[in-house]
Amino acid sequence: MKVLVIGGGAREHALCRSLSQDPAVTELHCAPGNAGIAQVATVHPVDQLDGAQVAALAVRLGAGLVVVGPEAPLVAGVADAVRAAGVPVFGPSAQAARLEGSKAFAKDVMAAAGVPTARSYVCTTAAEAAEALDAFGAPYVVKDDGLAAGKGVVVTSDREAALEHAAACERVVIEEYLDGPEVSLFAITDGTTVVPLQPAQDFKRALDGDEGPNTGGMGAYSPLPWAPAGLVEEVLESVLQPTVDELRRRGTEFSGLLYAGLALTSRGTRVIEFNARFGDPETQVVLARLRTPLAGVLLASANGTLDQVEPLRWDEGAAVTVVVASEGYPAAPRTGDPIEGLAEAEADGTAFVLHAGTKAGEDGQVLSAGGRVLSVTATGADLAGARERAYAAVDRISLKGGQHRTDIALKAATA
Ligand code: AMP
Repeated sequence: MKVLVIGGGAREHALCRSLSQDPAVTELHCAPGNAGIAQVATVHPVDQLDGAQVAALAVRLGAGLVVVGPEAPLVAGVADAVRAAGVPVFGPSAQAARLEGSKAFAKDVMAAAGVPTARSYVCTTAAEAAEALDAFGAPYVVKDDGLAAGKGVVVTSDREAALEHAAACERVVIEEYLDGPEVSLFAITDGTTVVPLQPAQDFKRALDGDEGPNTGGMGAYSPLPWAPAGLVEEVLESVLQPTVDELRRRGTEFSGLLYAGLALTSRGTRVIEFNARFGDPETQVVLARLRTPLAGVLLASANGTLDQVEPLRWDEGAAVTVVVASEGYPAAPRTGDPIEGLAEAEADGTAFVLHAGTKAGEDGQVLSAGGRVLSVTATGADLAGARERAYAAVDRISLKGGQHRTDIALKAATA
């Protein structure tokens, strides 16, 4: 099978790496890709938001499967365009991707499906926002209704700051604050059957100890030794399956990757958000542990045959990924700097480097080209072992002004 992956971050590099190891995959392509992806796939300079261009590329390549990585092309209808061209696609329609693209839509689906989530109000005026903030009290949670790459959420005890964020957005969802640890649980679905993957946890803040600004994610690990037994089954029953069933009932069948961001609160598991695609950087650790060849599972989602897929097989060990970001990330990332030590980081075979924002420079050099530059990933018998390997690899890499957190998976590894 020829596979075309859409996107160009570390998540897509992780997808491409797994697909390249699947014997069923005879040719691997990626658009637009990055410098690391180019080592395992043929990359194509295509506008990933342009459904017509992506569909034309898929047809020209004779792709048997297109895998859409990021949310923006999904919300822009790229999966619809590829499907309309007769090519199987892993990823939801634009209509179904509103589960991520509109917080208000997601809340409506959850209410109809009886899925536990934070109580919330949708507000469009300053007066409504003020009223909602006061109804819940501090800490305040204010979410831009639209797609904001995970950065449209403000959680603060400062009422003025909460009002300011609300005023800066056209439509906001203001909701009750959820306490307790967060878990990311991914599931692959064909619109009817739901196959959960292994849970992971990511680190959203820029600095150690969960300090500093919110980011796209600075690291992740899996599994979660502290999570309650039966968590995956509980979430499948109370969250994932009812959501997929409700979307099908509405005629907006959701196929692809359903990502549940959960808070394990003192009053039970609650959904913080849904995403319509693999999470970044959790994908890096979840796929590092998946033993079942990936292409067949994604194709079964695209073709509506997930009920025929064998139970997934998992590595019993652990995986940790540490994001290396550029200087100034997230506010004003500096780009164009050479990255050294990439081969050394992988030399002993215990870690691998997934590229996020990179591009090829002259003389085979790799240059930074974005905020998050690399996802350095390692597996091990347990979290402590995987952590040690990941950080040893990070230490061999040099990027001027580069920054990373030093406490990824630390608490879970030492608990
Ligand atoms: P989201 O984009 O909805 O995932 O929100 C980004 C981050 O904001 C989440 O990962 C949480 O850390 C935090 N957050 C979102 N909603 C809530 C909530 N209701 N209570 C507490 N924290 C929240």
